[in-house]
Amino acid sequence: MKQKMLKVTLTGLLAFGTIGAISIPLSAVGNGPTYKGNESIQTSILTTYEEVVDFLQTQEAKQDALELDVIGQTVKGRDIYIAKYLSDPANPTILYITQQHGNEQLTTEGALQFIKQLGTKKSQEILADVNVLVVPMLNADGAMGDVDFSLDDYIASGDRHLTRANANNVDLNREHDKEIADMEPEAKALYEEVLEKMQIDYLIDLHHQGAYNYVDGNLVSGSILYPTNPNIDEGLIEQSKKLGAVVYHTIDAKGWGLIGKYNGGTGANIGRNGIALRYGIPTLLFEMRGMSDHTNPSAVLGQKSNGYLRKQTLLTLEETMKAIADGSIETVDTSFWDTLSTQTNRP
Ligand SMILES: [Zn+2]
Repeated sequence: MKQKMLKVTLTGLLAFGTIGAISIPLSAVGNGPTYKGNESIQTSILTTYEEVVDFLQTQEAKQDALELDVIGQTVKGRDIYIAKYLSDPANPTILYITQQHGNEQLTTEGALQFIKQLGTKKSQEILADVNVLVVPMLNADGAMGDVDFSLDDYIASGDRHLTRANANNVDLNREHDKEIADMEPEAKALYEEVLEKMQIDYLIDLHHQGAYNYVDGNLVSGSILYPTNPNIDEGLIEQSKKLGAVVYHTIDAKGWGLIGKYNGGTGANIGRNGIALRYGIPTLLFEMRGMSDHTNPSAVLGQKSNGYLRKQTLLTLEETMKAIADGSIETVDTSFWDTLSTQTNRP
């Protein structure tokens, strides 16, 4: 959609404390603070939808290379945004999606940090060789807890609850095998205005998983997986594995990061599979540790872990962008996939 978004002045909003400096705990991820009743799960520190919009508009005003568009509206009428850095149609293009599941918010926090950093001079040189698209907070109604079902059992404290499903209680990451016309509004907007209209060469779908997944007895900071639908050809899977390899080598090199292989399904209704199948786009699922809110205590993670999880998102976006821009993604070593342990939810 080429229409320029409506400029809205949002007054009285708080400053973006949650998008500020990132601090990394010295301890490894497995030793990080967890919920289990020892720490409150607090949602008021998370960026609200209104703050996301204000942040994006502020960045658009500051950054010449950034074009912000609205691709559609949520069930409750919230505009869904895409941040576009389109330097040259001949460049390869990567699309990053966050918060198909509304209760998986730190991916969006990391994506906003990424967009801010794309405004720096150093990033501008990289952006000359790659097009970058970011759809942050796809499920804005779920992220704001503005839904038509009960939130009674959600355990977080704070100004709002966050839900996996959209306002109609539909899981947006199970919409991907439908006719586009039959999809929920948020998924439909993504397909009609982005996937159908733009040439996309790589896609990373960012999520959060439960807080207690292990490989070899150690808690993971996240897990990754390429498309696994049986109708996807080997070449496409190999390209997807390369995307995963860039992520794995980046995070594995950090002292606090530990990546497992996600134990995911083959269904075409899942974004990782469905988008690869429909469009031939290499895709990667990245699941960060721990959710922002849930009905199940073992799914959520205390906010002291927010720093490294935001950083994990930021690094993932930065390093995949760079590897596509300089072509190094083509020669990355994918052999780690052969030995990468599938995570389990017991040590
Ligand atoms: Zn998810």
